[in-house]
Formats: sequence, structure tokens, C-alpha cells
Amino acid sequence: MAKQKQQEIGFATAAIHVGSEPDSLTGAVGPAIVPTSTYAQDELGKPRQGYEYARVTNPTRDRLQECLAALEGGITSRVFASGMAAVTALCTMMKRGDHLVCTNNVYGGVPRLFNQILVNYDLEFSYVDTSNAGLVEKAIRKNTRYVYVETPTNPLMTISDLEAIAKICRRKGVELIVDNTFMSPYFQRPLEFGAHMVLHSTTKFLNGHSDGLGGVIVCSTKEQADKLAFIQKTAGAIMSPFECWLVLRGVKTLAVRMEQHNRNGMKVAQFLSGHRKVKRVFYPGLPDHAQYDLAKRQMGGYGSMITFETGSLANAKKLLKRVGAVCTLAESLGGVETLISHPASMTHAAIGEKGRKEIGLTDGMVRISVGIEDVEDIIADLDQALNAI
Ligand SMILES: *Cc1c(COP(=O)(O)O)cnc(C)c1O
Repeated sequence: MAKQKQQEIGFATAAIHVGSEPDSLTGAVGPAIVPTSTYAQDELGKPRQGYEYARVTNPTRDRLQECLAALEGGITSRVFASGMAAVTALCTMMKRGDHLVCTNNVYGGVPRLFNQILVNYDLEFSYVDTSNAGLVEKAIRKNTRYVYVETPTNPLMTISDLEAIAKICRRKGVELIVDNTFMSPYFQRPLEFGAHMVLHSTTKFLNGHSDGLGGVIVCSTKEQADKLAFIQKTAGAIMSPFECWLVLRGVKTLAVRMEQHNRNGMKVAQFLSGHRKVKRVFYPGLPDHAQYDLAKRQMGGYGSMITFETGSLANAKKLLKRVGAVCTLAESLGGVETLISHPASMTHAAIGEKGRKEIGLTDGMVRISVGIEDVEDIIADLDQALNAI
């Protein structure tokens, strides 16, 4: 398994301590939630600790931004009210006429934002299979500003070669943004491969408990950090202090959670691929995955996102109706609990039938976010539901 480059302190140590230093006033070990809209000033133009207004800065937010940057190996990060708010903030750094190259099977909300809102602002988008780095190179034009890659993709678990794409982007003077939501920095750190920024929906593995919404952009340069701070202050879609605290608390157990997600994910993937009612399994940790070697090289583990083919919409419906002892039918992923969903009608409804056909997403596909329950219980629930097909 690929070894990630070590930071000065280990990953789990950073997740627990960076940004969570005891409070300087009281020694409180638990970071404070600072719910304030504004801050007292000693005299005109002299805020006490540099804090002026909560849309601009907040101490709980500062702590989280520092922690997430450490985990991804960035210089700092900027957190937003949701993953989509982070994507929107990123796109407000584009100018009229700019072009973005996007992975063709990304989180469904991303093309919805691009095709149904941002095209109206004279921004251009093209979608390519970024698992073929050559296609990325071909898609880059004179006006291309960003290459936006999700790897593994949602829901087909296709892998893009981050190092190869970063090289192309750097040669062409284009910035590479990687949505790292599925792997989390514990298993994949795109900045180390040359990406310029990393984006997450913190709603998923980073927070990890399905109880909050958020997004983050991790920056590799001061210029990005300053621009995004200006966007936080100006456009205002920031993460609230309470949500910041939840994520700060959630990431403290990221390392142990991801280890268990990975173990359970592998066992469930093996179970599914041996089941007679399952036609095909998409999981980068299985040696029959088309990019197994790349996955092994680029990722420290394979995570717990699995998509599988049941053969038809009717079969998928039957299965989803029967699960329930452990697996919950719901959108979203990355929480401690196992969630199961139907991409064609849920997360990927917005891209339409034609869009789904283009990426090979069928009506019989079911996606599972394997939680960290006892894996025997997850498998038993899936087994009884599959046998109903
Ligand atoms: C959920 C998700 C998003 C959007 O995040 P929200 O927090 O729901 O706005 C973006 N990318 C990926 C890969 C996701 O799973």
C-alpha cells in the first residue's frame, strides 16, 4: 500500500491537536464555540484581537481552518456553509469567458451548479473522462482556468491519475482542484501530487457523524487564501461556529474511523462480488478494478464507497425496500452509519437520463457508504435484502 509522505507530526496527532490547543485564558481542553456576530473594539479602528465581524473571522472557524490545512498539507484553508458553497466560492474566482474542465462523473450537484446557474454568467464548462489524462490535456483551451477532478468518482469509483494531471496543468498554467471528499486526507493528499487546491464536503467523512453540513477549500498559496478570505467576507456563505466545532470534533477520530471504514469497505466489497445476485462491483480495492494499480499507488487505502449493479431498476427497488436493520436508505455518505442509495434517482437525477448514459450510470446501480458498525451486521442486512431479488 502506498505510504503517504509523513508530516512532522503524525496524521492522527495533527487531527487531534492542530487548532485544538488549550484555551489561553482558561486552559479549557475542549475548543470553545464562539457564537458572536461582532467583537468589541477598544477605540476607533482598534479591534482587540483583530476580530471585527463574524462573517470575516471567528475563533472557532480559525481553529478548524488551521486543522484541515494541516491534514491536507496546505498553508491554510477556508470553510464554507456546505460543500456546494465551497464549489460556488471557487467559481467566483473565475472571470467572464473563463473555462473549466470537469471530471464527467462527479457529484451530481456540481454539474447542476455549472449547467443551470453559472453558464448564465458566461463561464464555460466541459466534461471529460479524467481517468484518461490525455483527454484532460486535449480539453484545456486558451481560456481554461481550472481543471476540476473528483477521484474516485461518484458513483462509479473511477480513478484519475493526480500526478499526471497536475503535471499537465502546471505545464499549461492551469490550476488543478481536487474534490477529495471520498478518500479524506487520511487516504489521499492531492497537494502532494501537485494539485493547487483541495476541496471537500465536510458533511461527509471529515465531520463523519451525519449531523452537520459544510465545505472546505484547502489552499497551497497565500494568494488563493487571501482571495477566498475576501469571498468569505464578501459573499458570506461561511460555516457557522457550531458547525466548525462539530467538524473540529469529528476530525479528531478521522484516522481511526477511516481505518475501520476501509476494513469494513473491503469486506463488504468482497461479499458483494461473491454474491450471485450482484452483477458487478465498483470498488478500487478489488484487484479486478480497472485502475487497481493506480489506486494502490495514489491512495493509502480504498475507503468505504462501493457501487454495485443489481441488473435492473426493479431489482434495485426490491433491495432498497428490504434493507433497514443496519443500512439506511438515504442520500449522503461518510458517516459512522451505513447509508445506501440509488444514484440514478437520487444524487444523479439532475444530470438527466442522457447524462447518466454517457457516464455509464444505470438504473440498476446501488451505492453504499459502508459505516463502522460490526461488519457482520452490515453484510447480514445486505444478504437478506439481496436474496429478495
Ligand atoms: C456531498 C458532496 C458534495 C457537496 O457537498 P454538500 O456539503 O452536500 O453541499 C460535493 N462533492 C462530493 C464528492 C460530495 O459527496
